[in-house]
Amino acid sequence: FDQIEPKSIVSDACASYSTLDRLNQRIKPAVDDLTRTTDFFSHYRLNLFNKRCPFWNDENGMCGNIACAVQTLDNEEDIPEVWRASQLGKLEGPHAKHPGKRAQKERPLKPLEGKLGANVGESCVVEYDDECDDRDYCVPEDESAGSKGDYVSLLQNPERFTGYAGDGARQLWDAIYRENCFQRSSFPGSASLGKITTPKGPAAMDFKAVIEAAGRHQNLEQQRQQNPLTPFVAKTGLEYEDECLEKRVFYRVMSGMHASISTHLCWDFLNQTTGKWQPNVSCYVNRLHKFPDRISNLYFNYALLTRAIAKLGPYLSNKKEYTFCMGDGDQDAATRAKVLAVTEKAASVPQIFDESLMFKNGEGPSLKEDFRNRFRNVSRLMDCVGCDKCRLWGKLQTAGYGAALKVLFEYDNNNNPVPPVLKRTELVSLFNTYARLGSSINAIQKFRTMVDQVEPAT
Ligand code: FAD
Repeated sequence: FDQIEPKSIVSDACASYSTLDRLNQRIKPAVDDLTRTTDFFSHYRLNLFNKRCPFWNDENGMCGNIACAVQTLDNEEDIPEVWRASQLGKLEGPHAKHPGKRAQKERPLKPLEGKLGANVGESCVVEYDDECDDRDYCVPEDESAGSKGDYVSLLQNPERFTGYAGDGARQLWDAIYRENCFQRSSFPGSASLGKITTPKGPAAMDFKAVIEAAGRHQNLEQQRQQNPLTPFVAKTGLEYEDECLEKRVFYRVMSGMHASISTHLCWDFLNQTTGKWQPNVSCYVNRLHKFPDRISNLYFNYALLTRAIAKLGPYLSNKKEYTFCMGDGDQDAATRAKVLAVTEKAASVPQIFDESLMFKNGEGPSLKEDFRNRFRNVSRLMDCVGCDKCRLWGKLQTAGYGAALKVLFEYDNNNNPVPPVLKRTELVSLFNTYARLGSSINAIQKFRTMVDQVEPAT
């Protein structure tokens, strides 16, 4: 397991595994405290059941296992005060109606003022649009009180093994990785959902092209095994080593998210013989231990989110700029203190990830929009996940990475005097995605010890 010895560098991020392990040990208790004990961060509101898969007919890929089900909070009294419709209703201010994209851009907002603001008029403006702000990396989860949405307690619906697998799951991951074939890719036959900018667009037709290209890819892969000179269509992790930074980062974010999901399902696995939930070491060995690059990508994501969270600290600390809309000053202050306990520790490791290097040189600047569109497509793909529990966590985590990318690339204090606002759902997903990564790193360390016990190092 040499490749992930503590001194190895998580390339593309400026921190070693040991630095990130130490950081995780210090910060995890604070992240867990925030995401487990505050109403604000332990709940989520999303459109879980009412969005159709915009890319293909997903009716056959549905998971019928009980472990795939999500317990939603259907009665108002079960929903914490801060998430109730009556509270969300208070978010409405004079500008609450969606002002349209042009007006949004021109409206002078203070940093992070707005959607999460206090329960008073202007400073709590919320926008209802399900479409993206130009600077969003994700299709936002609508948080308005009047729209269709499901409330969930994240604690009641832990991410773990569900049994969702087979063609449906495979198709999803394939489509996610295929998003990485950027337009300027020199690899013949590259296919992507990149043309789809709205779910109402010609998605189905494009997807047909994608499937055909995937078939071509399979044939090419078979040929390639016989003749190594056959060109690639979609690329594997190692092939990304030769790619520019931006494309590599996109791939690493997806692969790191996949690795984190795999870690959780192996860690909280249902032993079907005993009926007990317990770690499954061979699941870990087959999905992660044998693939150090996947683990490296998970650490990479941890570094990336740490940087985004550190960068948010100054905004979240300022009561005037940012209020958690708790309707209760004490609770608000307690939540803020817990948030700052996380952001301050995250800021204690300087230079963990240098986002200023991205979208700068070579084809970098022209890739930004492409990068954002592809990320949005991945977030739309989450509506195609055929298992409710997996969809919940898939949506939450893509929203979390989307929020992190937005903070990293759109909050440039010098060049961007009007930084984009963050919705409540973006903030909650960001911190919960960070919590997921921290618990994956923790689980991997424990799994490694288990593997060493079975196969003592020579
Ligand atoms: P998969 O994990 O499906 O992987 C498919 C292929 O991708 C592999 O054969 C390999 O070539 C490649 N690959 C695997 N990991 C990586 C990586 N990290 N980086 C790069 N390439 C990789 N199942 C649950 O039990 N619980 C969940 O909460 C859950 N959430 C999910 C969320 C989403 C969005 C999706 C799409 C699926 C989810 N699943 C979940 C299903 C789970 O991820 C697997 O698809 C399933 O367990 C079948 O695994 P598999 O061994 O066939 O390989």
